[in-house]
Amino acid sequence: MRLNIGGLTPFTTIDFPGHLAAVVFLQGCSWRCSYCHNPHLLEVDKQGDNWEMLQNFLEQRRGFLDGVVLSGGEPLLQSGLAAAIANIKAMGFKVALHTAGSNPHRLEQHLTTLDWVGLDIKTSFKNYPKLTGVTASGDKVRQSLALLVASDVDYEVRTTIDPNFFTRAAVLELAEMLMTAGVTHYAVQECRPVENYKVESPSLLLDPSLLAQLEGMFDHFTLRYS
Ligand code: SF4
Repeated sequence: MRLNIGGLTPFTTIDFPGHLAAVVFLQGCSWRCSYCHNPHLLEVDKQGDNWEMLQNFLEQRRGFLDGVVLSGGEPLLQSGLAAAIANIKAMGFKVALHTAGSNPHRLEQHLTTLDWVGLDIKTSFKNYPKLTGVTASGDKVRQSLALLVASDVDYEVRTTIDPNFFTRAAVLELAEMLMTAGVTHYAVQECRPVENYKVESPSLLLDPSLLAQLEGMFDHFTLRYS
């Protein structure tokens, strides 16, 4: 079993709601989003295999952690993902997945084995190619969203509100689309500037009337400052 790990956060209370968890950042992503916060994770070290390191780490965390979050990069690209999920669960931990929804086929394969999924919806489906640099990327996310909403798995749909891409109207339009698609758990978070990527416009999330409107559209709405 091969697992290519690019980073590890040993303890978090916010990445797997209701759980004390570690976050494992897996290498590889087929997209190139302009505001990517993890550019060092985009390529895979094909010779690398870090499962044993993770196993040793988790052995020492039994009784302290409830869960493990598999994040990235795009964790669904890992060939060893199914085995990793099964092994982590066999050690007594719950497993959550963070995904950008770029691979609905693989999401479907793993969905029933997961305890929770955080799906990023970055922008309207039609604007995805502009953000990711990949044609038809929005169609993949649309399929992933439909799979997730139709499943029995607990989830959260999340959007990073980048003022370079969003207007107030666009935030509401996206939220309405998500509500119509059946999303019940929605979170929005600030976009943090990274090296070579500036966020010049003021945050839309400081607008209380916008937040009130969003709150009214979903059973569970979360505002997160990342
Ligand atoms: S999907 Fe995520 S990891 Fe991949 S390029 Fe976009 S922001 Fe970075």
